[in-house]
Amino acid sequence: MQIIEVDSLLAVLYESYNIMNRICWQGTLPPCLLRMSHRLSPRVWAYAKNGLGGEHRIVFNATLCLQLNDAGFLQIMAHEMIHIWQFSHGRRGGHGHDFQGEQRRLGLILGRVIPQDSPMGYVFFMHNLKNLHPAEAALKIAAYPNHRKYETEYYQSLYKQITNKGPRHATKESRERKPL
Ligand SMILES: [Zn+2]
Repeated sequence: MQIIEVDSLLAVLYESYNIMNRICWQGTLPPCLLRMSHRLSPRVWAYAKNGLGGEHRIVFNATLCLQLNDAGFLQIMAHEMIHIWQFSHGRRGGHGHDFQGEQRRLGLILGRVIPQDSPMGYVFFMHNLKNLHPAEAALKIAAYPNHRKYETEYYQSLYKQITNKGPRHATKESRERKPL
């Protein structure tokens, strides 16, 4: 794992990247540099750059991002993270079939409300808990119909990475563990 030094404001961006990586891709996206720029074209919200074996990066248009609310910003970030997903699978980028498939899987369908049971629906749900008292947040999480699905998926993939065992084994393991 790469160590990236960031100031405290950028740390907020990295936290969002990590949360979305965990919920939407089970933590499998590679580390990525996140930057804000005032020098992008006024028509570009952000772009993702393929590090070609080095560091991937996402650069946001700082001026345009000021106009966004949290949900808008996270959607821009998710869009760019799909490009990072493409790069990490050796794909070229762009907005072709693979990109659109990922968009649909995450629940990001243009002009439609993001479904609550989609990965991005869960990202927004978790994001909205940020300012709550921890006990209050815990209660809400326990009551959320899909939280177990996403948390189980994540821990299964971690288990798989650590042990190199197939998903069948991990499923059995997580059943035995009986999470709360
Ligand atoms: Zn794009």
